[in-house]
Amino acid sequence: MTIKKELTELTKEELQNELESIGEKSFRAKQLWQWIYFRGVTDFMEMSNLSLSLREKLSQHYTITRPKIVDEQISIDKTHKWLLEFNDGQRVEMVYIPEKDRGAVCISTQVGCAVGCRFCHTGSQKLTRNLTVGEIVGQFMVARDVYKEWPSPTDETRYLSNIVVMGMGEPLHNMDNVIKALNILTDCDGISISRRRITMSTSGIAPKIVEALQKTGVRLAVSLHAPNNDIRSQIMPINNRYKIEEVMKACAEYQNGEHSRYITFEYLMLKGINDSQECAKELISLMKKYKLRATFNLIPFNPWPGCGFAPSDKKTIEAFSKTLDQAGFASPVRVARGQDILAACGQLKSKKTKN
Ligand code: SAH
Ligand code: SF4
Repeated sequence: MTIKKELTELTKEELQNELESIGEKSFRAKQLWQWIYFRGVTDFMEMSNLSLSLREKLSQHYTITRPKIVDEQISIDKTHKWLLEFNDGQRVEMVYIPEKDRGAVCISTQVGCAVGCRFCHTGSQKLTRNLTVGEIVGQFMVARDVYKEWPSPTDETRYLSNIVVMGMGEPLHNMDNVIKALNILTDCDGISISRRRITMSTSGIAPKIVEALQKTGVRLAVSLHAPNNDIRSQIMPINNRYKIEEVMKACAEYQNGEHSRYITFEYLMLKGINDSQECAKELISLMKKYKLRATFNLIPFNPWPGCGFAPSDKKTIEAFSKTLDQAGFASPVRVARGQDILAACGQLKSKKTKN
């Protein structure tokens, strides 16, 4: 028996080549693409504008699968969290964070993560493997299935309006698949999420930042978490490889380029580590030195058993935010969402694994 090929692994061009390879005209690829990504159909038999013989042929050779939902929880604040499983049994989590009439789906790019940030639960789980293109796109398609957003709604009416690549894993360690997946998610004939509504967060893989952003046109977020190399290297070992200066230079290059946009710097507030007024002032100097237009996202730390860090006090966070604000850097404090369902990085999966 031949193994069936998964169509969601293919870019638009690859799908076209695939159909040509089985003797079909290339316009069929566009129809098929629309069934998969505009209508969200997973059964070839429903593709009513394709001939029955083609539908049968497609069913024989191909599959359109979704990651399987193995657990889900909805917080009292409506934050929705899923544990998803792929064909080989590997699992990642996905979170939907609703706002009033829109919301962001947070997707994962790897099972585990090799970066090993000391404060991150995913980082303590080591890297198992990269997600494939279909597994990355498939997560968002699961969210659309659940919220019944097929066929693709318009930009104004969709509830799942934004995507943040901030789940498990380091996207720039799985760059080729992430780029392809983002290009599928933004394709106008299909899922059609606008590039400005997608934010990709990286721990600062400096040499890849500019290229990844050029090839996707999405927004950039950088997990900075410290104003200098001393502190950053203590909490993020990756800083020994790519120093702050290198990361800042890449950010400046990105901002001076074609896709120039504000950069969001994520900053986890860790008690007694990176939350002093000196740190805030040092951050301001750093931004000025590299002439960056930036906003800060101050993240209250979500502790987990054995992590060895504590969250900063509310007052300390407010004072930190005020100093940045006064220097012209908007720095909202991220509202902790879904705390009753442990919606922080890596926690649902670990809880399940231990059971
Ligand atoms: N690997 C990428 C994207 C995924 S992590 C990156 O690091 O940017 C997404 C965000 O969650 C990062 O800013 C990370 O620092 C933050 N995070 C990790 N552990 C956390 C915790 N315990 N509490 C709150 N935020 C955390
Ligand atoms: Fe990996 Fe991001 Fe967690 Fe660091 S914070 S270990 S880069 S997932």
